[in-house]
Amino acid sequence: MDSKEVLTLVKNLEQNKTNDATVIEILKQLEVGVVPTEKLLRETKVGVEVNKFKRSENVEIAKLVKKIISSWKDAINKNKQRARMLAKEKSAGENQISTISTTSNNASTNVSTSLVNDTTSSTTNSTNENNLTKDSGNHSNVDDGNRPTEKDNKYHTNKIRNSKNDGVITSIYNDKLRDSVIRALYDALAKESDKQPGHILAICIEIEKEMNKYNGNDLTNKRYKEKYRIIYSNIISKNNKDLKFKIVDGDIKPDFLVNCDPKKLMPEHLQKELKAIHERNLFNAQGATIERSVTDRFQCGKCKERKVSYYQLQTRSADEPLTTFCTCEACGNRWKFS
Ligand SMILES: [Zn+2]
Repeated sequence: MDSKEVLTLVKNLEQNKTNDATVIEILKQLEVGVVPTEKLLRETKVGVEVNKFKRSENVEIAKLVKKIISSWKDAINKNKQRARMLAKEKSAGENQISTISTTSNNASTNVSTSLVNDTTSSTTNSTNENNLTKDSGNHSNVDDGNRPTEKDNKYHTNKIRNSKNDGVITSIYNDKLRDSVIRALYDALAKESDKQPGHILAICIEIEKEMNKYNGNDLTNKRYKEKYRIIYSNIISKNNKDLKFKIVDGDIKPDFLVNCDPKKLMPEHLQKELKAIHERNLFNAQGATIERSVTDRFQCGKCKERKVSYYQLQTRSADEPLTTFCTCEACGNRWKFS
């Protein structure tokens, strides 16, 4: 979980503090999802927020909080110890480098072979430096070890992904409509995704928030429901699989998703279809007024006749070639080229 995801859960926790079941669910998500680092705790104040529930009258919550806080403390302490050890090793390593470089400058082969337990000074020198650089590379890896790598951060499960199986709480607002929209978005986006539940939930909450904003003060929720229908049907469309991956990957941002011309969400083939309709309309509208010429220069691809009427239009910018619209007078087949 990155700090943004943690922040979302912290906010949820704050907003749902009177709902014990939700609090427990969020705490459980934090317990599993948070890899505690000082930076993360400082940025998100998640520790402070969780600690507020330490004296909860709900025994389960109080227990859970104690468990989480103590495991986070442990982890932070271990990190500190490790960092100290690494610092020590590193300074030792640096001393070694300086010795080696002195010896190699020294051109005296004897000294260098005695320092590094290998055969020739030039090769050992370089391999040793390689080891050292590799080593210091490891150091920074360990330092970064708090952040799971891309690979580790994938969500593995054998179950079909949805909010229930992922153990995600989608009742955020205690509002039947809004919460069910978040759940539906989650179920649609999580399916086939390998991103972490917290990451996907955060996106769903953002999308829903944008939809609510888009709805303005319409008490009938008419705009909200319309928008939901458009977005949802696009997300689950089998012809538009790219869309949900783009949303989950963050290529399409929630505010764009909600506020863009819905045409932009349609799969490519639908966009092509729209373009074709547009051109057909153009054809029909202009066809009557533009003089058509019949020619035997073109051959119909369908019936192979050479009785083709055509006209030309500037459909794109002026410096691009004209588009030629053809109609086969024999079979009615239509095509165009430019
Ligand atoms: Zn034809």
